[in-house]
Amino acid sequence: MLEIPASGPYHLTNVRLHASLTPGLAAAFDADGFALADIAVADGKISSIVAHRQSNSPAAAADLGGRVVMPCFVDCHTHIDKGHIWPRKPNPNGTFMGALNATGADRAARWSADDVARRMDFSLRSAYAHGTRAMRTHLDSVAPQEEISWPVFETIRETWRGRIELQAACLLGIEGVRDRKWFERLAKRVAAANGVLGVVTYMLPDLEELLDQVFAQAIKHGLDLDFHADETDDISAISLKKIAEAALWNGFEGNILVGHCCSLARQPDLDVLDALDKVAKARLAVVSLPMCNLYLQDRRGDKTTPRWRGVTLLHEMKARGIPVAVASDNTRDPFYAYGDLDMLEVYRMATRILHFDHPVGDWPQAVTSTPAQVMRLDGFGTLAAGGAADFVVFKGRSWTELLSRPESDRIVVRDGRAIERQLPDYAELDDLMVG
Ligand SMILES: [Zn+2]
Repeated sequence: MLEIPASGPYHLTNVRLHASLTPGLAAAFDADGFALADIAVADGKISSIVAHRQSNSPAAAADLGGRVVMPCFVDCHTHIDKGHIWPRKPNPNGTFMGALNATGADRAARWSADDVARRMDFSLRSAYAHGTRAMRTHLDSVAPQEEISWPVFETIRETWRGRIELQAACLLGIEGVRDRKWFERLAKRVAAANGVLGVVTYMLPDLEELLDQVFAQAIKHGLDLDFHADETDDISAISLKKIAEAALWNGFEGNILVGHCCSLARQPDLDVLDALDKVAKARLAVVSLPMCNLYLQDRRGDKTTPRWRGVTLLHEMKARGIPVAVASDNTRDPFYAYGDLDMLEVYRMATRILHFDHPVGDWPQAVTSTPAQVMRLDGFGTLAAGGAADFVVFKGRSWTELLSRPESDRIVVRDGRAIERQLPDYAELDDLMVG
């Protein structure tokens, strides 16, 4: 059995690394983007990464036998304030409206600070065990929930610092922006917590004015932006394009991440091209949530079979230089009955749903360095000499081995040491699920 040394400097030899995740490695990469390498670790950092040479390996080195090693994951779109409420508040029919109504009722009735904190901590422990190093969560911020959830987030962010770098974006329907005084207060609260300003856009008659309000507050308080947009099969939903236009005419210079954009995949080609031109010009980044989209989209009612996958046009976006990511989204709540914040599962599902293969190219960046850049996390999501020794050692030695099994026995190394990978027991939350 492979053991990562528990103390002192060490070498890992015969490690399989991907070209897209190891920018400094000069090696002969194969058609799948892999090369064998040797990694030296000291004082919690990677001291060197070089192309593998049998003759150069020190006697004490651990031979990984060609196992894939990836940097720890960055999950840029989650909802850990909603996570794990499914047992007490299931989605009655699996639809988006069913999710919205069930979650709203549960929030109003049950989301005390203690309830939110315990479910968030449970989620973070799962993500950490699976190898995630940074996460952005949305926080439902409809009054009075913002006064409960933001202080909880600030406390938990401190508790988790050094294990998971946690960010938060506020979440409310953009109609909430019409109450200008309240929205300004919310923007100030978000800024005080070093958060991100987020809203859900809908095709409202005054969408453009509301977007201007959102951009004005972001500029005033120096905030990055994070939108939920067009999470629907309705082809008249074009808020992605509206966000890009608003970014351009407001001269916005911060980072903008837009999630979902499902309806884009249903629109006529010329409309798609026009929208993507604007998205690229406005320097928007897009995150697709493949598991949640597969679950909620194209659910038409009883005894029908879904006929599309729900995801947006990531290949077309990437071809235009638009930064694209995939992320977990919801876990065990009315928006998605499953999930455990395992970014390998997300990447495996994305490979199948979105065709991140043949060739794999630089798609591994969609769960690592690209979301890290969107979240302004320097050094996250790549493996490089001088960087943190934060990586995941898998059993798989190729893409087909890596993505065919759950890799439940992966080794997660943080600051150079293998962590305890204990997943929290669901029974811990049982007392929150009664009544
Ligand atoms: Zn979401």
